[in-house]
Amino acid sequence: MNIAIASGKGGTGKTTLSTNLAHYLAGTGRQVVLTDLDVEEPNSKLFLTGEVVETRREVRMVPTWNKEACQLCGACQTTCNFHAIVKIGTEIMIFPEMCHGCYACSELCRAHALPMEAVEIGTMTVMKTENFDFIESRLDIGQEQAVPLISKSIALVDSRYDTEVIRLFDSPPGTACPVIEVSKQMDFIILVTEPTPFGLHDLKLAVETMRHVGTPFAVVINRDGIGNADVEDYCREEHIDILARIPNDRKIAEVYSSGGLAYIGHERMTQALELVSEHIRGLEVRA
Ligand code: SF4
Ligand code: SF4
Repeated sequence: MNIAIASGKGGTGKTTLSTNLAHYLAGTGRQVVLTDLDVEEPNSKLFLTGEVVETRREVRMVPTWNKEACQLCGACQTTCNFHAIVKIGTEIMIFPEMCHGCYACSELCRAHALPMEAVEIGTMTVMKTENFDFIESRLDIGQEQAVPLISKSIALVDSRYDTEVIRLFDSPPGTACPVIEVSKQMDFIILVTEPTPFGLHDLKLAVETMRHVGTPFAVVINRDGIGNADVEDYCREEHIDILARIPNDRKIAEVYSSGGLAYIGHERMTQALELVSEHIRGLEVRA
């Protein structure tokens, strides 16, 4: 079961829920792997200790121009849907940051003047923590496309862990391409939000995105007790399940800011995680 923890914006408690839930579930005897897919700014590792068992460099494919072979027909420019190749006079310019690696230009070039070559995009680090596996995917500085690394990370998890393992993914925030890529490949999404006007605004965007993608989802309210009841009202009107409420508690913030797992020794947060894990068990039974 692939489960992503997502949110309409950063800073709502997505990583807090991901790391605490992974540790909690593993503590109940489940096999768990947590993958940090917030590849532009992964930070789950800050809350975990363990041994790095593998480091992998990842690549994506982009075309490279062979000037000698090129007949300057211009077909590559018209073929590329992403405007990543431009013919200017007697030069072909390739913009790797816009290339989606679809191979179309390379395959359709009659002169075979656009061979694809590998470009390094980031690093995946596999760690064994105290009681579960953890994978961090980190995009190289200067790389602009998160989606290829995200796809490779999910594929790695799918290839290594069988269906008995609960696979949690700390999703990138927002509603753009990286989140859509994650959501498409999940069985279930947990949307973390806060009971504030900003939280509600971003939750609505996230709900719209999830409904568009078609992946089932439910909500966890973080910092319950601040703000107002608008998020609850919205969820009721839209028939969206609220799985749990994590209280707004200074102790949680203090443990978080020191890089710890806040649920340990915190009864109400543990109860919230139990509710989420019960829902996951229900999903597994129905699957
Ligand atoms: S399609 Fe091939 S031959 Fe034609 S301009 Fe592009 S690189 Fe050159
Ligand atoms: S591989 Fe696809 S996206 Fe990249 S430049 Fe060629 S046609 Fe455009």
